[in-house]
Amino acid sequence: MIDVAQALKLVLEHAAPLPAGSLPAIDALGLTLAADVVSDIDSPPHDKAMVDGYAVIAADLSGGTAELAVIEEVAAGSTPTLSVRPGQATRIMTGAPLPEGADCVVMVERTELSDASAEAETVRIDDDSIRPGANILRRAYCLSQGQRVLERGHVIRGIEVGLLAEVGCQRVSVTPRPRVAMLSTGDELVDADTKPAAGQIRNSNSPMLLALARSAGAIAVDLGIARDKQAELETKIAAGLEFDVLLLSGGVSAGKYDYTPQVLAKLGVEQVFHKVALKPGKPLWFGVLRREAHSTLVFGLPGNPVSSFVCFELFVRPAIHRLMGIAEETTGSQSARLAKPYSYRTQRPIYHPARCYPQEGALAVEILPWKGSADMLTVTQANCLALLPVGENQWEVGQAIEVLRF
Ligand code: AMP
Ligand code: MG
Repeated sequence: MIDVAQALKLVLEHAAPLPAGSLPAIDALGLTLAADVVSDIDSPPHDKAMVDGYAVIAADLSGGTAELAVIEEVAAGSTPTLSVRPGQATRIMTGAPLPEGADCVVMVERTELSDASAEAETVRIDDDSIRPGANILRRAYCLSQGQRVLERGHVIRGIEVGLLAEVGCQRVSVTPRPRVAMLSTGDELVDADTKPAAGQIRNSNSPMLLALARSAGAIAVDLGIARDKQAELETKIAAGLEFDVLLLSGGVSAGKYDYTPQVLAKLGVEQVFHKVALKPGKPLWFGVLRREAHSTLVFGLPGNPVSSFVCFELFVRPAIHRLMGIAEETTGSQSARLAKPYSYRTQRPIYHPARCYPQEGALAVEILPWKGSADMLTVTQANCLALLPVGENQWEVGQAIEVLRF
């Protein structure tokens, strides 16, 4: 049986970034750029005032209190018409273009307008420490026209949406969201809106995996439930193979009616691996349908909800990210210090529900009492999976262990 690292490597080898598409910037949130972005403007577009006040010549103020003639007013959005000469000032608002001749802006708080009834308005300024360039942002100080401001592969967050607007990029070339189909299998399943009859359980995996796929950035589509009948599985799985990723729940273990692997083989899906040395999640099946236009990655996830959850976090989320061109350093495990002693024994590495929290500048982790792969309730109280390596261990407080946050 292959281990988790080998399985992840195989999954990622089969997941290449999807072909680029173009989207309005706002809809590209969370996606990666498929091309560099170049600015069509200088920012700021002009030398601009950074405070409300008076545009003046610094040298006019060097001798102590100065009395300057106010020659015009420039609000943000308008442009100056007069040059400032020695002995003059222009009243200016934050963001407005600096008039020619002026070399700094004195903030309004350091000034006093003289008698407003006077014919020519004057302003008294007492700020002999001001230097040329004070309170001015020079044209193109932040970025210039023609500059490459974002590189291919960069992930778009809110701040990038703002920058894209500033540089005139309304549509962006991005690696699109993968389309993920979800199909649960099992004769025992009923929809969540139904009270289960004898022998039945609610289908919790479909909603959970749809939500997880969406949280990873995919567009997730529910294909419902397929019964454990070969013909029905075949029709529904065939529909799922039109997507970039097909998630199947159940039917990959050793039960008599676990038909999924053979149906997948019949439909031309190549098995890459079946079964991984981990707990929970051992029955995981992974394969690929290769086609010229586009391939489909197929994950046969174990039916037990926590098993499929763990397999999603370990393998499906990284695969979705790879399809989206998201670099892997954004995922991965962290080291944490055990907060309470813990003993266990296992022949397969366990990904155990746990809770981590900051403590004295480090990350502490507490392993939660857990009732196994059907116990979703405990996982709702967890925020990470603690990795318990193979063997028999009696861990003391402070033991360093790996955790995978979710
Ligand atoms: P299977 O992998 O099909 O053998 O199923 C293993 C266990 O998971 C069984 O107890 C199933 O009833 C349960 N199970 C299978 N599919 C689902 C599902 N979609 N939602 C919740 N539990 C499931
Ligand atoms: Mg089943």
